[in-house]
Amino acid sequence: MSLPYVFAAPNDKNGFADWLYWHKSDHQDFVDALSLPPFSILHLPTYPLDIMVNLRDKNWLSAHANIHSVINEVLGTGEGADLEAVDLTKPKEREAWYDLNYQEHRAWRTILGI
Ligand SMILES: [Zn+2]
Repeated sequence: MSLPYVFAAPNDKNGFADWLYWHKSDHQDFVDALSLPPFSILHLPTYPLDIMVNLRDKNWLSAHANIHSVINEVLGTGEGADLEAVDLTKPKEREAWYDLNYQEHRAWRTILGI
């Protein structure tokens, strides 16, 4: 189960690479769960979640936020947090972002029973 690794905000480059891997893995669990009935969603991507060029990678932030929006819509969990409007180079914003992201992952796992 990758969720505990998503909770652990990384402190350095290696930790960040690990976090990216586990975070993508957690998203893959949602793709797998949502591909089954009653959801049967077959078009939910995980790309490019395993590759973030750097902390200013707006394409990654945008793609990730879109994936979160789709899952929130499907699960009826409301609009969710704004995970796109963040400057990950700022430690306080980054810390808050990791927590918001984790909270949504945790809520989805509870709903999906995974
Ligand atoms: Zn996420």
